Amino acid sequence: MARAAVPGRLTWRVGTLAEARAETPTARTLVLDVPGWPGHLAGQHVDVRLTAEDGYSTQRSYSLAAPADGERVELTIQAVPEGEVSPYLIEVYSPGDPVELRGPVGGWFVWRPTSTDPVLLVAGGSGIVPLMAMIRARRAAGSRTPFRLIYSVRTPDDVYYADELRRRVRDDAGLDVTYAYTRAVPEGWPTPPRRVGVADVNTAGWPPALTPDCYVCGPTGFVETVADILVALGHDPRRVRTERFGPTGG
Ligand SMILES: Cc1cc2nc3c(=O)[nH]c(=O)nc-3n(C[C@H](O)[C@H](O)[C@H](O)COP(=O)(O)OP(=O)(O)OC[C@H]3O[C@@H](n4cnc5c(N)ncnc54)[C@H](O)[C@@H]3O)c2cc1C
Repeated sequence: MARAAVPGRLTWRVGTLAEARAETPTARTLVLDVPGWPGHLAGQHVDVRLTAEDGYSTQRSYSLAAPADGERVELTIQAVPEGEVSPYLIEVYSPGDPVELRGPVGGWFVWRPTSTDPVLLVAGGSGIVPLMAMIRARRAAGSRTPFRLIYSVRTPDDVYYADELRRRVRDDAGLDVTYAYTRAVPEGWPTPPRRVGVADVNTAGWPPALTPDCYVCGPTGFVETVADILVALGHDPRRVRTERFGPTGG
């Protein structure tokens, strides 16, 4: 018996770039219109597929940077030097151009606004992207769940969403952000550049007794270090969710 194809999350859809904005000198946010987009949860990602005129095709995973908003989808892409896809999406891909997307993907690394346990977010570099979707989803839902973000970046110029984070922290007592700079600190910063360590997670995170949900995202080494620290500090490993931004492709 013939069955009609049901469009699902594994269907490739064609999105169009509606607008783009620079986040840092090396990162760009893409706002895409994706007809038929089924919606998503904060923390999920998409696969993006590019196909050249000669038929050569390649795909990469990118986290959704904002909560579901009809058929609009936001991604933030960090340029990987010599990369095949990211420099194209940052330097060449223009408003009106099509791109194929498939998703949303992932059901574990998600935060739902119905959850009331405190949340600790720990981001390394572009790992902020799905965590920002959670911060934005919390705001959009009017949730009062307390959030703390530890954001590790190389330099102050590398902070994504800098103005928005500043504004949200100013206007919302339920959101705290602590920055950890690994290569250069802002003028007057009390400590030299350093990597996130036990003391940072202990001081800027939640005590394990409050049973927070922890989300850690970034390069693989960063994620493993921070997850180990959280468990060593006494956090329940089942509450430590991780997303590794390793190379993707194929
Ligand atoms: C679940 C998931 C979500 C992701 N979300 C985002 C996102 O929101 N924003 C974003 O900018 N990236 C994200 N990534 C990474 C993204 O999928 C690509 O790996 C990245 O854009 C590089 O692709 P490229 O084609 O430019 O480089 P490639 O041509 O694939 O690689 C060029 C060189 O860089 C190395 N490399 C590639 N990717 C990485 C990496 N991530 N870390 C270290 N070395 C790397 C490769 O090994 C290779 O040597 C995510 C990855 C995963 C698995």
